[in-house]
Amino acid sequence: MDTIKKVKFTGHNDSAFNRDLKKRLDNYFTQQNQNQFADRRMWFKVIFWIAMWIATWLFVMFSGMPSWVLFIVAVAHLYTHLFIAFNIAHDANHDAISKNKKVNRLLSISLDLCGVNSHLWRYSHNTAHHSYVNIEGADTSSQGHGIIRFTTNAEWKPLYKYQHLYAPFLYAVATLNYVFTKDFLIFIHLRKNQHGMKPTTGEWLFLIATKLFYYTYTLILPTILLPQYSFLTIFGVFVLGHALMGITLAFTFQTGHLIEETSFPPFNAEGNIDKNWAIHIVESTVDFARTNPMVAWFLGAINVHVIHHLYPRICHTHYADIAPIVQQTAEEHGLKYRTFPSFSSAICSHFKLLKQLGQKPIN
Ligand SMILES: [Zn+2]
Repeated sequence: MDTIKKVKFTGHNDSAFNRDLKKRLDNYFTQQNQNQFADRRMWFKVIFWIAMWIATWLFVMFSGMPSWVLFIVAVAHLYTHLFIAFNIAHDANHDAISKNKKVNRLLSISLDLCGVNSHLWRYSHNTAHHSYVNIEGADTSSQGHGIIRFTTNAEWKPLYKYQHLYAPFLYAVATLNYVFTKDFLIFIHLRKNQHGMKPTTGEWLFLIATKLFYYTYTLILPTILLPQYSFLTIFGVFVLGHALMGITLAFTFQTGHLIEETSFPPFNAEGNIDKNWAIHIVESTVDFARTNPMVAWFLGAINVHVIHHLYPRICHTHYADIAPIVQQTAEEHGLKYRTFPSFSSAICSHFKLLKQLGQKPIN
């Protein structure tokens, strides 16, 4: 298990960009007579995705429909796990749904019920990824674990020449890794480290109970309730659904940072980066398909990513409305704000970056 590097941004914390943006966002919410947390659109999504999660499962178990229908709905059911993670759990774990942290914690359990431990998610996503975007050895989302090179600061190996070709296969096992191995391995690793993240007995019990709950409703109950299908068939549908989800997950999260022209700032021997953190976020993060409301609706507005990284406690249903304010403020301060017109153009740029990083560095 890789150890997370300690890195510090030593540029001025209080930049003019930060101050202007904060003022403009405060003005926006005051003028709209709203707060930054969930609005009616968000609560509708919370109810919708939880209802879809339950309804698709009941349909597969009890509708008695032909196999091809059950197959499509089973894959759709697995996709509800991803959309719950994107639309509910991501915000809940950032404390962005409600001012009341207990409400956020309760809704964050939706991630555990979909097979991923929320305690670890807060550690690897909120702490490691959000604090250290694109920083080699510190950002968990750009760690290649010696099989893929995501940053210019990672060491090069000849294998990486082909990484743009084999990356989709690695992405296809991303969610399977989450539900079967990653959480357990990190829990064991945290037990030994000194980051103050040592899991308590209660957290261990919660991890085991929620994993068993997940395996029960996705694999064990279908095997019992649908005796016309073998366990292998059910497991095959599970693996295929997860492969599609893993690719969707990777494309959604990786295209937010790992695209051409993105910034991979080097750090000195003490682990310091001489930059303002908010400016680094604008330089290392992109938006895509911002004008397509369907993309934002399904992806929990993870495609409107710059504002998410600057203000993760703002609920995602506000992002499309406030992103133009962020872009204008950034540009007025001489920062390059990157947007891709569509999801597919961002994915293309991600693969071009993988190809570039796969070439042997010149020096
Ligand atoms: Zn986030």
